[in-house]
Amino acid sequence: MRFQELKTTEERLELMSTLSERFSKRAAPVDEEGTFPFDNLNDLKTSGYTALTVPKRYGGEEISLYELVCLQEYIARGDGSTALSIGWHMGIIQDLGERNRWKESMFKMMCEDVRNGALINNCASERQTGSPTRGGKPTTTAVKQGKHWVVNGRKTFTTMSPMLDYFNVTATVAESEEVGYFLIPRSTDGVEIEETWDSIAMRGTGSHDLVLKDVKIEEDYLVERVEPGNKGASGWLLHIPACYLGIAQAARTYAIQFAKEYSPNSIKGSIIDLPNVQQKVGEMEFELMRARHFLHSVAKQWDEADEEGRNRMKPELGAAKLAVTNSAIEVVDLAMRIVGARSLSEQNPLQRYYRDVRAGLHNPPMDDMTIMLLAKNAIK
Ligand SMILES: Cc1cc2nc3c(=O)[nH]c(=O)nc-3n(C[C@H](O)[C@H](O)[C@H](O)COP(=O)(O)OP(=O)(O)OC[C@H]3O[C@@H](n4cnc5c(N)ncnc54)[C@H](O)[C@@H]3O)c2cc1C
Repeated sequence: MRFQELKTTEERLELMSTLSERFSKRAAPVDEEGTFPFDNLNDLKTSGYTALTVPKRYGGEEISLYELVCLQEYIARGDGSTALSIGWHMGIIQDLGERNRWKESMFKMMCEDVRNGALINNCASERQTGSPTRGGKPTTTAVKQGKHWVVNGRKTFTTMSPMLDYFNVTATVAESEEVGYFLIPRSTDGVEIEETWDSIAMRGTGSHDLVLKDVKIEEDYLVERVEPGNKGASGWLLHIPACYLGIAQAARTYAIQFAKEYSPNSIKGSIIDLPNVQQKVGEMEFELMRARHFLHSVAKQWDEADEEGRNRMKPELGAAKLAVTNSAIEVVDLAMRIVGARSLSEQNPLQRYYRDVRAGLHNPPMDDMTIMLLAKNAIK
């Protein structure tokens, strides 16, 4: 069954739920070995998921942001690394379709490739810049040579690097000091992946270093000019909180199941009947409910707003990300308290959720930047 054959969000969520169960069975070995979930990504490609955000004008389904965050949450219930990886690709294509920032011929070519299974991600982080959202200028350079660009540099955190077909790389144009996104096909000479990803969180994202040595691309492959640190409101980044919400939901489900089955001989029945456990279950429900409503309402607001309205949504988008990722951390913590010391066993999925959910703090926008933005808005 392909997603394209299904018409409603509910039907698509049902299909994703089946895929997600499969992902959850594969999550532990990928995490333990620090490999990449190739099988999950291939399942997402063959089911047509990876093309769902392609706009209708290029033969896609053009799903809404609301539907995207729901589907992304379901993926993360099975495997956070898979969700974060594919979330970048899905969001980038949605964003490009909505904002027409690329030359139309380039975007048309990209959409055709995506419909045939191609994957793309933005490669903006560098060791020297830290998070690109803080305005650091790329040390990766692009030099014009006739009708070509020659790109040199190193990018960190290149999520999905084992399977990407396109690296959308930020670089500084040597002569003008302008910064732009340069689209680099994987097959281009001088493109290398150095397997540096040794994070204890999101181990299956394959977020290795991308090394570019005299990479030559045609002039049209400078696809977008940008001002570092001055990104407008980006609805598509809500795939990030959706991912961490999914991880938290998985932790909650595991903890409740455990509590129903665990029956120490100091009590009759199982620990689910105990008030101290029910207190934590209720607190988890509260955090999840609040997080989900916030995320969904901001996503729907984005879907319903015009361009001007969307441009004003940066505070809401940042606040939703902050609230959801911090609630997700809280939920995983509560789930672990319910399960007790067993939650720290290597064989227990909660220890993976605990490591994975922390990564949300280091995906954009960072909490301190959101708080400052809210403060500035309030004072203004
Ligand atoms: C799992 C995962 C996947 C990722 N995938 C991608 C990807 O696909 N593509 C990509 O481009 N990036 C990706 N990233 C990178 C991410 O977007 C950040 O660039 C990266 O996490 C570094 O952020 P940081 O906050 O640790 O770094 P920094 O910005 O260096 O921050 C480190 C510390 O220094 C402080 N700091 C640094 N500069 C300033 C400043 N100017 N003002 C105030 N405080 C400052 C921060 O507050 C923080 O305490 C990924 C990250 C993770 C964790």
